[in-house]
Amino acid sequence: MRRLRRLSLHLLQPAAPPAPGDQLALAACAGARARRVEGGADVAAALAAYLRGRHRATQMRLFDFFRARPDLQTPVELATAAHRELCYRQLCALVREAGVRPLTLMDSDPAEYFAVMEAAGGADISLGVKLGVQYSLWGGSVINLGTKKHRDKYFDGIDNLDYPGCFAMTELHHGSNVQALQTTATFDPVTDEFIINTPNDGAIKWWIGNAAVHGKFATVFARLILPLQGKGGEPADMGIHAFIVPIRDLETHAVLPGIEINDCGHKIGLNGVDNGALRFRSVRIPRDNLLNRFGDVSRDGKYTSSLPTINKRFAATLGELVGGRVGIAYCSVGVLKVAVTIAVRYALLRHQFGPPKQPEISVLDYQSHQNKLMPMLASSYAFHFATVMLVDKYSEMKKTNDEDLIADVHVLSSGLKAYITSYTAKSISICREACGGHGYAAVNRFGALRNDHDIFQTFEGDNTVLLQQVAGDLLKQYQEKFKGGTLSVTWNYLRDSMGTYLAQPNPVTARWEGEDHLRDPNFQLDAFRYRTSRLLHSVAARLQKHSKTLGGFGAWNRCLNHLLTLAESHIESVILAMFIESVKSCPDEKTREALKLVCDLYALDRIWKDIGTYRNVDYVAPNKAKAIHKLTDYLSYQVRLVARELIDAFDLPDLIIRAPIGMQSEAYAQYTQYVGF
Ligand SMILES: Cc1cc2nc3c(=O)[nH]c(=O)nc-3n(C[C@H](O)[C@H](O)[C@H](O)COP(=O)(O)OP(=O)(O)OC[C@H]3O[C@@H](n4cnc5c(N)ncnc54)[C@H](O)[C@@H]3O)c2cc1C
Repeated sequence: MRRLRRLSLHLLQPAAPPAPGDQLALAACAGARARRVEGGADVAAALAAYLRGRHRATQMRLFDFFRARPDLQTPVELATAAHRELCYRQLCALVREAGVRPLTLMDSDPAEYFAVMEAAGGADISLGVKLGVQYSLWGGSVINLGTKKHRDKYFDGIDNLDYPGCFAMTELHHGSNVQALQTTATFDPVTDEFIINTPNDGAIKWWIGNAAVHGKFATVFARLILPLQGKGGEPADMGIHAFIVPIRDLETHAVLPGIEINDCGHKIGLNGVDNGALRFRSVRIPRDNLLNRFGDVSRDGKYTSSLPTINKRFAATLGELVGGRVGIAYCSVGVLKVAVTIAVRYALLRHQFGPPKQPEISVLDYQSHQNKLMPMLASSYAFHFATVMLVDKYSEMKKTNDEDLIADVHVLSSGLKAYITSYTAKSISICREACGGHGYAAVNRFGALRNDHDIFQTFEGDNTVLLQQVAGDLLKQYQEKFKGGTLSVTWNYLRDSMGTYLAQPNPVTARWEGEDHLRDPNFQLDAFRYRTSRLLHSVAARLQKHSKTLGGFGAWNRCLNHLLTLAESHIESVILAMFIESVKSCPDEKTREALKLVCDLYALDRIWKDIGTYRNVDYVAPNKAKAIHKLTDYLSYQVRLVARELIDAFDLPDLIIRAPIGMQSEAYAQYTQYVGF
């Protein structure tokens, strides 16, 4: 009977997950049998086409370009100065030889721009970041915060790299708290100029990409000071504004008078990017260099703006910079795919131990290994679809300037950037460990991936700070709901279902444990949204209670961990909703089935990891919790059976993977060759 049962498990998908004791035996059989799933290559190809969409051709063209140019490929070991020079040469080649015009793309087709950025990051993460500094940050600030005169003067020079530039916001004493920056830009009505000044060492611009070596301009964020315009003839502080400041001579590249630039030095990673520190001593720039889209100064020193308050102008200014965050979230998924590809391919290749007198099994056939890597593979798919949606929304926002969409993209980009980059950072270490000793060889990439990517959690907005923006927005929406107002796009589920979620959980459905029910997207989404709604409701009550004694700031701090959990929970709901949508929209049936399997694993793994929360409020009864656990393990096993195909569907060429142990074929041979055999 046992044999028959096992045999039937190989042939049919069972109605219920197998008992845990059967897993290793199953895995051993699978190891021998499932080298290649029948028709797997077709599924991988169809999936790849579905994932890459319309940017496939551009990315492939760039991969081919780098493949044909060994002189532009980053070696495993490279000193900082050489890495910086190579990175700049790579960028110049991309623009001047491969003919990419990143700023034009950013302006006319942002999705294509992000695809270029991801491909560049695949060649070297430093290159992706250098490109981001030049185009998303320096270029983006000029075209989004400036007006026509700035576009006319700078657009082409930025696009063709004649004007390499920087984005100088952060100072030694302030990064996240941008409103506390201290650099000043004081208007001089006599000469019609602004005077840029660093009032103390704490105001030295720090960490500025492109500043140490290559930059010729900087967008400098400074407090705009208007003499005699304040109360009683005092100088008026109009808040943070952005100014174009030339920092090096266009011809000689010498640092301009009044500017001191020092090198931030060797970093933990991203050493292809030259980060520098800038001090300004009464540097004069023409009045025209104020990026004046949200506020302007007339010849006679009068301030005008379409926005009524400093806070509104500040929000509008920072709001225009979300593109950088979108790019970071998108590229972080690219890094995760590379790490997961190396770890899964190696896990399939690596054989250790096995049943007595039988061949050794692949390490991916161990339940523990599946548990480490398969939910991560599922998350890569989930994040892929979520960031594609984010990029689409961003493109739509740029086209329409729709206010709801602007608010939506702002919060989504903060939440997804924070959630995805934190997840990727943790996962790279898990992948390294999953590859054992060989994961530690620099040539197998995990060290560089981890170090280069690590700062994605901090720049373009620190993750903890960004998640608080998400929580703040949810609370605002929550209050609106009770005032009867409308909710912005992504949060509609709160309006539709808050009442249901806040009622006591249904004791009957809390016990349902059938596989059909657990794999029903309605149940999965309901579980995610239920959790978010409860967290939102409870944190709102706690904030109200504590603010009476602690004030707003103190209450927020008292509830901070709760708020961060709320933000993450909401972002997970958004990611799952998008994944479910993408499964539904997949045109090919076999591909859809594979994606549905991956999506179920993503959803149930997340529910299981937070099962305490669900049990605490009796959303799931003990029998259901057990069934979720069992099914999650079983789905991990099922995904393992198609893991090779799911990885191949990322369609990352060897040039991008580079790690010998992550190669599609002859991995061991390539590794031994690299070492010199
Ligand atoms: C390699 C690199 C490149 C960079 N490139 C640029 C660039 O080109 N241009 C530029 O302007 N800047 C750049 N930066 C700066 C970067 O944007 C800042 O480091 C970032 O915004 C974080 O600010 P901070 O370093 O001041 O961190 P801080 O804000 O001081 O954060 C320190 C810690 O405190 C925590 N914290 C801070 N505030 C809160 C809060 N309200 N609640 C809870 N916890 C909090 C954070 O989570 C963090 O763990 C770069 C930085 C690096 C390292």
